[in-house]
Amino acid sequence: MPIRILDAATIGRIAAGEVVERPASVVKELLENSLDAGATSLTVEIKDGGISYLRVTDNGSGIEPGQVRLAFENHATSKLMDAEQLSDIRTLGFRGEALPSIAAVSRVEMTTRAARQDTGVRLTVEGGENLRVREVGCPEGTTVVMRDLFFNLPVRKTFLKKPQYEAALVSDTVGRMIMGNPKVSFRFISNDRVVYHSFGDGELRHAIFAVYGRETAENLVEIDSYQGGMRIFGMIGIGEQAKSTRAHEAFFINGRSVRCPMLSQALESACRERVTIGMYPMCALNLVLPPTSVDVNVHPNKLEVRFRDEAATRLTAEAMLRTAFEGEGMLRRTPERQAEVRPVRTVEVVEPPVAEQQQINLIQTEVPDKQTEVEIIQTEAFNIQTEAFNIQTEVVNNNSDSLGPEESLQSLLDAERKKLRLAGLAGAAALHERLLPVTAPRPAGEEIPQTEPVAEPKIQSATGAQAAPNPAPAPYRVIGTLFHTYILLEWSDALLMIDQHAAHERLRYEQLSKAVQEGAASQRLLAPEILRVTAREMALVEENMDALSAVGYDISPFGERDVQIRAVPHILGRAELKPRFMETIEALAGMGSAALEARREEILQRACKGAVKAGDALSDSEIKSLLRQMQDSGAPPTCPHGRPVARTLTRREIERMFKRIQ
Ligand code: ADP
Ligand code: MG
Repeated sequence: MPIRILDAATIGRIAAGEVVERPASVVKELLENSLDAGATSLTVEIKDGGISYLRVTDNGSGIEPGQVRLAFENHATSKLMDAEQLSDIRTLGFRGEALPSIAAVSRVEMTTRAARQDTGVRLTVEGGENLRVREVGCPEGTTVVMRDLFFNLPVRKTFLKKPQYEAALVSDTVGRMIMGNPKVSFRFISNDRVVYHSFGDGELRHAIFAVYGRETAENLVEIDSYQGGMRIFGMIGIGEQAKSTRAHEAFFINGRSVRCPMLSQALESACRERVTIGMYPMCALNLVLPPTSVDVNVHPNKLEVRFRDEAATRLTAEAMLRTAFEGEGMLRRTPERQAEVRPVRTVEVVEPPVAEQQQINLIQTEVPDKQTEVEIIQTEAFNIQTEAFNIQTEVVNNNSDSLGPEESLQSLLDAERKKLRLAGLAGAAALHERLLPVTAPRPAGEEIPQTEPVAEPKIQSATGAQAAPNPAPAPYRVIGTLFHTYILLEWSDALLMIDQHAAHERLRYEQLSKAVQEGAASQRLLAPEILRVTAREMALVEENMDALSAVGYDISPFGERDVQIRAVPHILGRAELKPRFMETIEALAGMGSAALEARREEILQRACKGAVKAGDALSDSEIKSLLRQMQDSGAPPTCPHGRPVARTLTRREIERMFKRIQ
């Protein structure tokens, strides 16, 4: 579509506001233009945080010589026809405001050559004036150089922060673009240093490597889920990869990098227990849904979107995000080679958003491919480089011997795929509904077949034992305990360290939650226990009676200053009763006006503390029994407060420590 000026009615409906606030907003707009132009390779270069110099070079479609001037007119765009189209935006840009806004506040030089043109065009403009165009020789694609931001608006300039800070914001913007566009190769240079270089091989893990480095890239949990006409795919960092702020939650809605409080909440709720209290999961998550169910025309910088049905979208998103952790257990570990990232080159990361981390990995809990996925379905639902949605669905059947009806499923999906190719996204909802049974959560208790040949010794799951006629030997060797606190195991090619206290707490928590769910949480005491409490504690007990009884306590005030306890949570012994109860009351005091559910959760967690403590020596048989319970439990590999239960040090890491390898 040629560039043209929007009509007044459309302009009136566009969310207006300041487009250019700082170098990072310029970079965002220029990169969006390059991506809309189908670029597969992009360079961003800045000097002094982008204030004095900022360049974006792309290998995209370029602009026809006769159209370059027009691109700098207000409200001139090639991406929007009329106001009606505003509800169905499929490009990153659509307002025709970025180039004129940038040109109005800086010195801009655009050099561009469209495909099929012999020569290119260079346009220069300063503070919106002296616009000049001349013919030049240049490669296909577009380069925009912006100099001296706010040179003509000295007051605005004073609002900019120090160059290092502005550079960090640009770096964050580029980092998000990299993770949102793994098929595009990005190079980001700041003051002559290469900060990021992504390879554009389409692998999200490699894109994350380019931004966060190896440690993070190797330890993220992958997700790809469909439900209710939506798809969520990407990576999530929990446990050790969690961060102290939300700054590392990167969301992309239909390929657009946005802030999304709704997805933040859904993610944090899905990751609760897997992230230490006060920390936030990190992620690069793509949400794909029909463009008509999300309004992108709500924010001047296009940084926020509005969902047509936010509550329903949130519920579905949360349910989908939970599937990322399905099938994981406390003692299952992805063989190292599967998680390993093999980037082509390494690049210096100047501003690593992650703090220096120890060379040890949190247990990876993805079950190897063939175990979890009967079908691997990859739907590339959104392709910002083409004008329309272009859906390609690929069905790979990994388990063709054991599945009877897969042929008909396959042909059904093939037919769907053809239909979708012809119809754009129209049929996507139907497709996703159809796919749902295939990717639906495995029913509880269903065994995970463990039959495929892998080099690593396998863990025998509780149900797996029936499946295999000859139970495999334990896949580990107990080395012993360290500081009476950590159980050390030789596990395949790694040293596994288990925090016995955290493991035990997690197991108790699982047991008790299950009992609570089944309504069997309570354990009656032979003789009631009387505890002396202060007036304040008495008030807390009375306030929290509901939550306490939900977890299994049967309590009533006994006179002014005593409480009588007649029953306690299922797993709590009499010996632990008093300290545990007092601790629980204290914790409740610190919770202010938290909701009942949060209080119940707190009581549940408190009840699970105790028994095996760090520092308690365990006998061999106690260790074995703990390990067996861990193997059999489907619990997450963190204690109920999100601390890791186990960590590994791989052979490779150990060899690196001793300089046997680099
Ligand atoms: P918008 O992106 O909202 O259309 P812009 O002011 O950012 O508005 O750009 C105006 C027009 O200039 C775009 O619609 C597009 O046709 C053209 N354009 C801008 N940047 C590029 C680029 N890097 N490659 C090709 N065309 C571009
Ligand atoms: Mg634009």
